[in-house]
Amino acid sequence: MNITKNTVVELDYKLMDSQGAVWESSAEGGPWVYLHGYGDVMPGLEKELEGKAIGQKIKVELAPEQAYGPYEDDMKTEVPREAFDGIDGLTEGMRLAAESGDGVHAVLVKEIRDDVVVIDANHPLAGQTVKVEVKVLAIRVATDEEVAHGHVHQHGSCGHSH
Ligand SMILES: [Zn+2]
Repeated sequence: MNITKNTVVELDYKLMDSQGAVWESSAEGGPWVYLHGYGDVMPGLEKELEGKAIGQKIKVELAPEQAYGPYEDDMKTEVPREAFDGIDGLTEGMRLAAESGDGVHAVLVKEIRDDVVVIDANHPLAGQTVKVEVKVLAIRVATDEEVAHGHVHQHGSCGHSH
């Protein structure tokens, strides 16, 4: 079987920045499982994976547009300093979990001024070229329910809220 739309793919992976520093890997978090064809993985990587078979390896360098997108200045927002009163040791460079309409995101404390804190919600790898190494571990046909939902159901059921 080869990877095509509506297959569920399991990967060994390593994500690195352009300097080769490892950001994420299956060695720490376990294999990565996704539904192919729905933009679950970086666009440049999904394109490379198309048609691949079990055991095949890919080593690719992806420009920002093919990875985490460009760095967007309007993803920076100024929040009144009081909003952070409950947080001890607020420092520049710190990452915080912020809640928004579509879930919890990690944001960066970019700058602390007297009255405002500048928060940056860009992905930490936005605007950067990344290197990705993957190995295809398994491929299976997605179930009708997975296709209908547009994502993988691990352990046989839908663990998400819809
Ligand atoms: Zn689902």
